[in-house]
Amino acid sequence: MDSSLNGIVRHLRGLYGRRNSIFLSSLMIRITFLNIAARDVQTVVRRNVGKDIIAIALARVFARVIAVADNFKELDITRGMFKKYPINYSDGISISYCSYCGSNNCKCPNERHSESKYLSRIGFVPSEIYSWKINHWCFHLEEIYGEKNKKKSIDSLVLRLYTEVSELMSLQALIPEINNTDEIEEQFSYEIADVIAWIIAIANYLNIDLEKAVLDRYGEGCWKCMKNPCNCGHFDFKQMDF
Ligand SMILES: [Zn+2]
Ligand SMILES: [Zn+2]
Repeated sequence: MDSSLNGIVRHLRGLYGRRNSIFLSSLMIRITFLNIAARDVQTVVRRNVGKDIIAIALARVFARVIAVADNFKELDITRGMFKKYPINYSDGISISYCSYCGSNNCKCPNERHSESKYLSRIGFVPSEIYSWKINHWCFHLEEIYGEKNKKKSIDSLVLRLYTEVSELMSLQALIPEINNTDEIEEQFSYEIADVIAWIIAIANYLNIDLEKAVLDRYGEGCWKCMKNPCNCGHFDFKQMDF
């Protein structure tokens, strides 16, 4: 399997795409399903059940945000990540920077409500970015936000993940007002990138290897039926059992 972020996304689409299209037949249902997994992260962190369980909870959020992306035919998650969490190239040196404050060591106030002024202006995504593994993204985001996030509490990071999921819901409600399909996909790719970024923030904060967590759960096929594509029936909308 191609172990780049892009490859893992394709793998998850192949694994669950069929089941998603039968049992998660609307965008709203997919976001609701994601929301349940985000709430589970909150629960496991609060109960302090240990890193192994938190890693599973984070992998579930990851898989479910990919299910949201899968609602769109060709939504490019890597491009969304690159635009929202950019890299500056000059003189052969690449520098990660925050798309809100423009600094390579984010200096945004904690409650920022501004727009991303510094979205990557590079029109195309450099091809090397498509080969980035989840671990590369973890490292990249740690460079920009690690120091800042270390000063926060884990609860505030988890709350932030939850907020990003609700932003997806708000965006979903706004769709009828966006009269341009490209723009709808673009906005969703940014919001999905934000959800992934906050999964990564939590994993980094807790020293959890997110890439391993995702591959452990989904790399060999469905964690439950062990098949690829998954051959399970309907999804369970209940909270995770610990
Ligand atoms: Zn910033
Ligand atoms: Zn299955």
